[in-house]
Amino acid sequence: MARPVSVPRGKSDYLSWLITGPLVGLTILFAMPAVIHRRPLLAPLPETLLFLAMFVAADAVSLNIDVRRHALIIALTEIPIILSLYYLPPLTLLVIRAVARLIAQLRQGAPPVKLAFNVSNALAGIAVASLIVTYFGPLDRTPRTWLVLFVAALSTNLVTVVSVVGVISLIQGGASLRRMLRTATPGVLVGSINGAVGLLVLITIQRSPWAILLLAGLAGAGIVIYRAYAQSLRQHRSLSEIYDLTRAVSETQNDATLADVLLVRTRDLLAAEWATLWLPAQGRFPETLLSARVDDTALTDLSATPEALRRRAAESGETVAAGPKLGDEEQLRAALRETGTKDAIVVPLRSGGAVIGTLEVAERLGGSTTSFRVEDVQLLETVAIHASAAVENSRLVDRLRFDAHHDALTGLPNRRRMLNALEQAVKVRAPGEVVAVLQFDVSGLREVNESLGYAAGDELLAEVARRLREAAPAAALVARLGSDEFVVMLRAQGTDATVGLAGELRQALQEPMEIGALQLDVDSAVGIAVHPDHGADPGILLQRADVATHVAKSMSPPVQLFNLGLESRSSRRLGLAGDLRKALDNGDITVCFQPKVSFRNRRLIGVECLARWEGSAHGSVSPEDFVAVAEHTGQMGRLTEVVLREGLRRCREWSQAGRPLNVAVNLSPRTLTDPEFPDWVGGLLEEYSVSPEQLTLEMAESSVIAGTDRPLPILRRLNEMGVRLSVDDFGTGYSSLSYLRRLPVHEVKIDRAFIQGMATDPDDLAIVRAVVDLSRHFGLSVVAEGVESELTLSLLEEVGCDIGQGFLFSRPLSYDRLEAWFAAQTEPEPTPAGEVRRLRAVP
Ligand code: C2E
Ligand code: CA
Ligand code: CA
Repeated sequence: MARPVSVPRGKSDYLSWLITGPLVGLTILFAMPAVIHRRPLLAPLPETLLFLAMFVAADAVSLNIDVRRHALIIALTEIPIILSLYYLPPLTLLVIRAVARLIAQLRQGAPPVKLAFNVSNALAGIAVASLIVTYFGPLDRTPRTWLVLFVAALSTNLVTVVSVVGVISLIQGGASLRRMLRTATPGVLVGSINGAVGLLVLITIQRSPWAILLLAGLAGAGIVIYRAYAQSLRQHRSLSEIYDLTRAVSETQNDATLADVLLVRTRDLLAAEWATLWLPAQGRFPETLLSARVDDTALTDLSATPEALRRRAAESGETVAAGPKLGDEEQLRAALRETGTKDAIVVPLRSGGAVIGTLEVAERLGGSTTSFRVEDVQLLETVAIHASAAVENSRLVDRLRFDAHHDALTGLPNRRRMLNALEQAVKVRAPGEVVAVLQFDVSGLREVNESLGYAAGDELLAEVARRLREAAPAAALVARLGSDEFVVMLRAQGTDATVGLAGELRQALQEPMEIGALQLDVDSAVGIAVHPDHGADPGILLQRADVATHVAKSMSPPVQLFNLGLESRSSRRLGLAGDLRKALDNGDITVCFQPKVSFRNRRLIGVECLARWEGSAHGSVSPEDFVAVAEHTGQMGRLTEVVLREGLRRCREWSQAGRPLNVAVNLSPRTLTDPEFPDWVGGLLEEYSVSPEQLTLEMAESSVIAGTDRPLPILRRLNEMGVRLSVDDFGTGYSSLSYLRRLPVHEVKIDRAFIQGMATDPDDLAIVRAVVDLSRHFGLSVVAEGVESELTLSLLEEVGCDIGQGFLFSRPLSYDRLEAWFAAQTEPEPTPAGEVRRLRAVP
């Protein structure tokens, strides 16, 4: 007979009584006629004991097969049932069955509800069978009797199925019922085979009672063989399942489904209700607890494993197992009792020597009759070895993946991650929408590092990261590209919206920052590139945002949207640095001279020395480009030296020839912060025997005024030495003339943009006029540069400007061509200080 004996635990004991009660009634009702009808009432004691032994044995040698939550127990009870129906009076049979079942239930330690159910269930079966036998009796040796006995034996089976199904459908509902019925089918089949065997045994015994010994021997051997076979079947199944499991785990170890695969498979392999993976917090990984539970479709973060078992396994690094068949240490049993768990196995996951977590199973399926055994412990340990490797690998991969895509200091995504995200972002775009890349260049990081230390610098960067993340729209991606460069990528409705947002984010960064005990003001320059306007390639978009950022640094406010004009220049400059070095080494940098003319008497009063780089691999490179490159690659000093030496050399030659000319040389802003510069200039003046007032140093307005007083001592020194100082490109730097008055300068050069505009733009004219008036008031000489036309010249004369420089007089010329120009365009005019050149009157 096959009988599902596992009545579901807990929940509703009284529901079981709802079935047990009627069963008892049924037993009494059906047994009555049989008991009354059949004589004698009781069998003799030896016979009774013999049959009792047979029933107890049949109940004991049952073989378990697990089907999900339920253990299908294949017992041999149909054999003694057929024999006893034939030989025993019904009352004796009822008593024996009750006692045998009671013994079996007590041995399993079944709770009272279950015990009562199972006993009354067995009795009801016997009652029904007895009724059938009585009704179709009397029994003889004909095949008709065989059929009656067979049907009677099977009816016990039917009663069991119906009553268990009743209980289960009451407690667990329809889904479990269907599963039950499925598992009952093979049970009926097994019952039929048992019934046939029982009949064979009966027929054999009828021929000779001694045959029972033979049969007992055969049955014993059969059971041993079957059990051995079942064991090897089980081992074989475990092996192939372990193989499947490890393969599945190794195939998925690099993605998030590792836990799913591992736990569901482990749970099924060990026929456990729960399989749990526990990983303690480690580094940036939080503690992880995941369980696969029977009948749950997704993993949960609950577990049935008692905390004490897990803790002990993690601390000792040893497997901890507890349950009815797994040793009986009181402490562990108490832990199980506390959580109401039947049994559990906890195996540590190891990496090297360390425990990196645990793999656990709890609650062996099959109800209280089954529980984990030593083989299960070994099985789980085998799985754990593979699981350790997989978990460690996946953590490693996770970590590598995280590190590879994040900045360690701020935890923000890094350049690689940003490129990936950008690549995805440009793929989908709503009409009118742009994907914007805003690059923030934080100013002053170097100063903070130098003056307050790197820890403060780090703090500053972390704060910038925090503010950007906070101020940026939720959907924006904030990344750190490098030292002081941050990028915000977002979708926006058009370019204007983007520029507006850039300003807002910049403002968020401008709020004073508390770094240590200090309050710092941090400013930033923002460069913007947008898709689709500036490209679709993530690399190009980032590069263009970078280009715009560099330009933004010299803007006010420092926010710059990319345009192609910016790039052609910057990308050209990119390749120049190395070549410029070679050009300086090889003397390929030459110097041109552009005359400065006094309007009043048309006298030539000096020349400006301008560097030239022709015939390079890049063609002729504009001074704006190579000067910027020299500035950014630390070659400015050498460039200045080349020009200054050439200027001084020519200056001495002109002096020696008796026609002295002032030479003007341009300086870069950085030169003005070099404290050794004045002495160096003094040395060169001596070396070339040029008197200081023959030399004019031009520096751009922005570099003198830039808000700091750093150039001031150097300017004073140069002034004391007697060198003339000129403020170049005046008007572009937003400075006031009154500020200029406090600087030790002698000359102001009005930027050529104003000069060229004054003929057409009244504003420009007004500015030039104002500058000239004030300069004269302060005793500064004024130079107009970029004089291209007679009209401009006459306007300049009208506003009282006295010196000019520009194409109208001459372009910058090489030394030889300048000499030719002197000869052709000027005539000598002797003065006490030497011969002076005066422009020939235009014919
Ligand atoms: P800058 O100091 O303002 O030099 C004057 C520039 O105006 C020169 O351009 C000159 O060719 C140009 N120019 C002169 N007259 C006219 C005119 O009538 N019309 C127009 N459109 N332009 C005129 P260049 O030589 O291309 O130099 C550009 C800038 O490069 C210079 O501007 C200066 O800032 C820088 N630079 C040139 N040589 C040196 C150098 O040796 N050292 C440093 N630090 N900077 C230099
Ligand atoms: Ca100049
Ligand atoms: Ca200029």
